[in-house]
Amino acid sequence: MQGKISVEEHFVTPDHEEYVSSAWLSAETHRKMLGRLGDLSDERIEQMDRSGIELAVLSLVTEGVQAELDPQKAVTQAARANEALAAVIERHPGRFSGFAAVALQDPPAAERELERAVRELGLRGVCVNGYTSTPDGGLYYDDPRFLPFFERVAELGVPFFLHPRYPLPSQRGIYEGRPELLGSTWGFGVETATHVLRMITSGLFDKVPELTMVLGHLGELLPFALYRMQGRLKATAGLNLERPAPEYLRENFYVSTSGNFHTASLLGVLLELGADRVLFAVDYPFEEMAEAAEWFDAVPIAEADREKIGRSNAERLFGL
Ligand code: MN
Repeated sequence: MQGKISVEEHFVTPDHEEYVSSAWLSAETHRKMLGRLGDLSDERIEQMDRSGIELAVLSLVTEGVQAELDPQKAVTQAARANEALAAVIERHPGRFSGFAAVALQDPPAAERELERAVRELGLRGVCVNGYTSTPDGGLYYDDPRFLPFFERVAELGVPFFLHPRYPLPSQRGIYEGRPELLGSTWGFGVETATHVLRMITSGLFDKVPELTMVLGHLGELLPFALYRMQGRLKATAGLNLERPAPEYLRENFYVSTSGNFHTASLLGVLLELGADRVLFAVDYPFEEMAEAAEWFDAVPIAEADREKIGRSNAERLFGL
């Protein structure tokens, strides 16, 4: 399929390399990865052309400003990332769009930066890489202090992309001795899915029903857990949600194919969420555009659904 829009594609600037974890890579692989993350011209656009990707929606690579312990610096770093991204988009008209970075270390500043990024810099959403680090741990976004920020996200009419990061250091016990499971193999999905469920069961989507979220990796395992989750939530005392939990996932979320180019999983997600809620994505440079495109272009779904997932859902969601 030509003209695809790809919605989870990462970049880094020299200013933000300090937030890219190297723990699980050899020094050489890490250097190469930084090179690919930093390339926003030749190699990347060539690969997009070869893979039928017309436009990539870029986001600052995990863990981004969420890992910054100094709130003031986090605010500055978010603004610098957004300005760098806006400049890249301007240099390559029609090839790139982008998610803003925000520093939720300072929620009112994050609101102001998002408004600036959307209204003045032309960014189309906000991407946050998991919980926000604090000196004694981290904050998840079911915390009521973030409610005004989410109201502003909804008011601006842009999607909130919750991207994975490593679990809190205090929560890594089950992975002890098995570092290969901590990141994108498994830990990322569990961490992000749990975070999403915290947001849903806190009632956030009752308070801000217009809030739209994006998840990568075909929904971080959640579409496969809806039935059992709802059955058990119904039996939970004191939980007071306006709708059954799976409905929030079906009505407030989009999921992308990033890093999960697997036909059986996609078909399951389509049955649970429908073709209007799925977006094509690669997860470059951690995954290869050619592999994603080759799979997606041939995956056995209706052509009308391929068109939605490959392009028109993203056009609608991002107002492209
Ligand atoms: Mn990613």
